[in-house]
Amino acid sequence: TKHMGRNGYHFFQPSMNALAQTQLHLLNDLWSALEHQEFRLVYQPKFNAPSGPVIGFEALLRWDHPQRGRLTPDVFLPLAEKTGLIVPLGNWVVDEACRQLSEWRKQGRLVWSIAVNLSTLQFEQSALVETIIATLKKHDVPADKLILEVTETTAMNNPDESVRVLTKLTELGVKASIDDFGTGYSSLLYLKRLPASELKIDRAFVRELSRKGDDATIVSAIVALAKTLNLKVVAEGVETEEQRAFLTELGCNTLQGYLLGKPVSAESITAEAYIHPDE
Ligand code: C2E
Ligand code: CA
Ligand code: CA
Ligand code: CA
Repeated sequence: TKHMGRNGYHFFQPSMNALAQTQLHLLNDLWSALEHQEFRLVYQPKFNAPSGPVIGFEALLRWDHPQRGRLTPDVFLPLAEKTGLIVPLGNWVVDEACRQLSEWRKQGRLVWSIAVNLSTLQFEQSALVETIIATLKKHDVPADKLILEVTETTAMNNPDESVRVLTKLTELGVKASIDDFGTGYSSLLYLKRLPASELKIDRAFVRELSRKGDDATIVSAIVALAKTLNLKVVAEGVETEEQRAFLTELGCNTLQGYLLGKPVSAESITAEAYIHPDE
């Protein structure tokens, strides 16, 4: 429009510069961060619905930046993806998560599984399967205790290749979880062919869940679809008792969210007395 002339340009420029500058600084620091061991993993528990026991943890990445403090993935993951650093960084995540699980296993927590998030670039690297096999072996972690969380969008980026890679991995015993489900555009035909073991309903559908609203209908439909395909259903972002009760009623198998447990350091999990009936 007429109003988007020179004035619009001048108005927009300073904030763009600030953002670009922050990104540039972070980009510089990002390359040395891996070397300087500034990345950390925090772990969020996954519970059998409705209230336990804890069956495993999802590893979530943090960057303890020497000047900026602890940064969450939204600040640096897009940069890491754009530059390709995500591949070595993502491989570090798998290694560190498996190392931590093996430590917990030595303390007798044999039931727990560990879930890691894979970015598209990481998932599509040619050495993925070999890297995963080597990492499991290195830390003596059974394949069926590792869950790879791949978003619906990543899985559908190159569907035939996803089927091929996930088939190889699941033949080894590794489990696959379709993350952020409901936000992408899955072809049901491919979804049926994907050898996944669980489907994670995106937090967006859980957030405004109420007994009357549209989101309840969507969640029920996703649960029905998952059951048909023989997949377990994980609901993430559970923040209220009402959500917990309703998601359980709708048939979700696993719950994750601030109500049940926030992401915390490995040390605080080690210190906590999580009781599992099978131990
Ligand atoms: P995600 O895989 O969907 O993970 C769930 C996000 O929701 C996490 O944010 C978690 O801290 C947050 N969350 C969990 N429960 C609740 C809740 O009850 N309420 C609210 N408001 N939030 C909750 P986080 O840790 O900031 O991670 C954001 C995203 O970054 C993740 O979304 C995932 O896509 C990505 N990510 C995290 N770690 C890694 C990693 O190691 N590798 C890759 N490739 N991506 C990662
Ligand atoms: Ca995830
Ligand atoms: Ca999500
Ligand atoms: Ca996500």
